[in-house]
Amino acid sequence: MIEERRKRRRPIIDLLLIGLIVTLISIILVIILSKDEFKFQKISASKDTNSESNLSTENSAFPGIRIVSDVSNDKRSPFAVHYPQTENKVFNETVLQFITDAKDNYLSSMKNNKNKEAKGELTINLETFPFHEHHYSFVLTKMQYLGGANHVVSTTTFFYNNETGEQINIQTLLQNDNNNLSTLAAYVRKDLQQNLQLKEVLNEDELLKVTEPKWENFNRFAIVDDSIHFYFDEYEIASGSAGAPIVKLSLSLINPLLASEFQIAMETMEPTKPPVSPGDPNVKRIALTFDDGPHPKVTEQILNTLDKYHAKATFFMLGSRVKHYPDIARDVLARGHEIGNHTWNHPVLTKMPLEQVLKEYTSTANEIELAINQGATVFRPPYGATNDEINEKIPVPVVLWSIDTLDWKHRNSQLLLTYIKSNLHNNSIVLMHDIHQSTADGLDAVLAYLQGEGYEFVTVSEILPYRQ
Ligand code: ZN
Repeated sequence: MIEERRKRRRPIIDLLLIGLIVTLISIILVIILSKDEFKFQKISASKDTNSESNLSTENSAFPGIRIVSDVSNDKRSPFAVHYPQTENKVFNETVLQFITDAKDNYLSSMKNNKNKEAKGELTINLETFPFHEHHYSFVLTKMQYLGGANHVVSTTTFFYNNETGEQINIQTLLQNDNNNLSTLAAYVRKDLQQNLQLKEVLNEDELLKVTEPKWENFNRFAIVDDSIHFYFDEYEIASGSAGAPIVKLSLSLINPLLASEFQIAMETMEPTKPPVSPGDPNVKRIALTFDDGPHPKVTEQILNTLDKYHAKATFFMLGSRVKHYPDIARDVLARGHEIGNHTWNHPVLTKMPLEQVLKEYTSTANEIELAINQGATVFRPPYGATNDEINEKIPVPVVLWSIDTLDWKHRNSQLLLTYIKSNLHNNSIVLMHDIHQSTADGLDAVLAYLQGEGYEFVTVSEILPYRQ
């Protein structure tokens, strides 16, 4: 009997069951899909409103600079972006605009990706490099993955003056001078052409295009220690295996192209004057000179070493630094050394109108007088770059050097004596810098050697009569 009933009901039950299963599956599918859709909307909403749930801010190692982290652990479209926040609203908005665009671009690409299994990734990392007193280079490296074949790495930079709140672009850095731009473009092009890593994969046409002397080609830069870095994106000029190329140029190479406030302290431009023949053969003299200070640590260490050998020297100071360290200038004088004027900001004087040259001289002369209660007695033009017109207008002797230790370049305390030894002659004037620790560290060996050779350590003004 049971069997008979079963037989009778089977088709109806089967149909009902199948219908029920299909309906349930459909409902479940609709729920899953709509949930997925809902998830996307939530992300979109969070990016549009900058939802605070995934934002955090912390202080950086630099005054007035904070680091914002914006992180989402979404399963399909996760991201982690980091960017700087300063005290300047306009600058912050510029940075935030870049971040918002990057996130929008990534999230909408992922949303439109037909492959719903695809998992994306967006990271933006921040590096901060301080330069001179108030400048910072922010380098934001973006790595984006849209679930397809390749990760794409690209770099965006911001160069920022923390004191004025200004963002500084490449035009300002190169004095808005098209000749400077052309020189820079040639350096960058040459560097890329000589890059061995790029050799096999370089696209020469693209290389020529991105290194054309156009301002917009060079806006991705950072000043990192003694170099300026120019960034190129992955695939921009070479296939992926080369990564994202970075051109690193020494600041000393492009120093003459830079606006004076960005120039670094160095001495290279003018060839060294040939040694002058000896005066009194019975006495050997040498004038040690230290440029670009005063420096709170290095100058003091140099003074202590000079004292140890009862040596007198000459310090060519920058007005901008005397302003910060008048006590050190006073200490230099008190310990019997000569103080010289080395301009306010260390510009290339031969590239300036005479009026501005005299302003560099006078402002520094005034600052030194304010600090030590007497005037600087000698003048040294930065890089040794001077001409007859300048020499005539400067009221104190203009003094170059006869031995260049290249201490700014090698930063090697042991090479200091090597360079002096190989150029040593009577009545020489030795160029060094009291802003490099290596110079202070190498000085003791220099003094010990010269004293052993019978040299007397005198100031520049004392040696000048023997150099005529
Ligand atoms: Zn100098």
